[in-house]
Amino acid sequence: MDKWKTIWNKIKLFRSLRVRIFLIIMLVGIIPSVVMRHGILDNYETRAVTVRMSDVQSQMKILANHLITYSYMQGSSSDVINAELELLSNLYDGRVLIIDRSFKVIRDTYGISEGKTIISEEVIQCFQGKSTSKHDSVNGFIEMTTPIVMTGTASSQNPNQNQKQEENTVYGVMLTSVSTDSIAMSVEIFSRKALILEFIMIFVILGIAAAFSNMLMRPFARVTQAINDVKEGFSDEEIKVSDYVETEHILNAFNQLIGRMKMLDESRQEFVANVSHELKTPLTSVKVLADSLLQQPDAPVELYQEFMVDITNEIDRESKIINDLLSLVKMDKKAAEMNITSVHINELLEMILKRLRPIARKQDVEVVFESIRPVTAEVDEVKFTLAISNLVENAIKYNKPHGWVKVLLDADHQFFTIDISDSGVGIAEESIEYIFERFYRTDKSHSREIGGTGLGLAITRSAILMHRGSVKVESVEGEGTTFCVKIPLSFIG
Ligand code: ADP
Repeated sequence: MDKWKTIWNKIKLFRSLRVRIFLIIMLVGIIPSVVMRHGILDNYETRAVTVRMSDVQSQMKILANHLITYSYMQGSSSDVINAELELLSNLYDGRVLIIDRSFKVIRDTYGISEGKTIISEEVIQCFQGKSTSKHDSVNGFIEMTTPIVMTGTASSQNPNQNQKQEENTVYGVMLTSVSTDSIAMSVEIFSRKALILEFIMIFVILGIAAAFSNMLMRPFARVTQAINDVKEGFSDEEIKVSDYVETEHILNAFNQLIGRMKMLDESRQEFVANVSHELKTPLTSVKVLADSLLQQPDAPVELYQEFMVDITNEIDRESKIINDLLSLVKMDKKAAEMNITSVHINELLEMILKRLRPIARKQDVEVVFESIRPVTAEVDEVKFTLAISNLVENAIKYNKPHGWVKVLLDADHQFFTIDISDSGVGIAEESIEYIFERFYRTDKSHSREIGGTGLGLAITRSAILMHRGSVKVESVEGEGTTFCVKIPLSFIG
């Protein structure tokens, strides 16, 4: 079964939907017509033979009555009977043999077998009162036996007969053979006509099948054409071929794919533009500073020193942007590259805060860590550290003098949560939905002063998503911000 299926699939022709539709229409049209032709012809033949049999049988019964009436079986010769026999054998193109009780043929319309004895199964059966009929379709004749019995009609027709005749006594048997040539001829003529009709029908169905399969496939050709147009760049409109629900579904999926690709392309272009811009800004500043020094050959040493500090700061900024970009690229890679280990989150957070405390102290910001319970979780230590460091660093950076940052660790049976709250400047409501985008900064000049790249939160979000976690933000401008991170305790690959 499977072998046939593979062969079927391998023959390229049969893999075409158009060919399959064509074949289905052909088969659905032709098979019934062939079956019908055979059925009708067979039926006609059987019916004609049955009618012929019953016709002949009733004629024979009438003749049997006459044979008794005219005492034919007792040896009386009758011109009427002879004429009747001739008429019957001519009418049905057949032969009638009359056999008496001693199985002797007393009359043969062909005159060949008179005086001979015939003992056959049918004749014996017939002497028991049962008439038989048999159709020999190969040789084209019907053979029938009719008992010559005294029926009610025969006895009433001759009430004065002295001889006592018992009803149902079989006096003899009539053996009749009737040719079915005329029936065979009619069947032949019908068959020829039906065959011609069938051929005409096959040609018509062929035409219909070809036309229909073409027509049904046309929308698919249009779909292919439309997709090719988009591929070749001739069109960037949404494709619509709504002839079938199926084509509509295919194209909806295709349009969504194209939409997604366009979006990805746009965001890639935007990213490249942003990167170029961000990388160019410090370089431009360095060039401006260096040029202005070059234009003042007598510039005092203090000015040189001041400008050199600025140039160093710009170079630091450039290298920070490049470092952040590298981190982001790493984050964009697949989850398969996660280096998952079981980590004591409390210890790790203590370590991150320890590293950031000097910066906090410089900003006059107090950093507090609170842990509801000890937590051990499966994380990629480097990526996780980067994510949390960025959040705590931001909480310190965007804070106020004498401000505070609070890191709260908790867990349930499935997730652990880290809430990083600060008493800082807060984020304007309209900016909240953009802060995780690459290069986005709420207040450019202020952020620049602080030394941000606009990539920190994008890195954080990527790292948390890679851990199948989530990050949410709540903020009141001028009062402070809270970032809530939620990560599964066991890593889901
Ligand atoms: P940046 O390098 O500028 O800090 P981020 O992606 O880390 O870039 O942050 C994006 C912007 O979100 C920042 O420029 C800042 O305006 C805002 N932001 C981030 N964290 C905080 C916070 N804790 N408080 C106030 N604003 C914040």
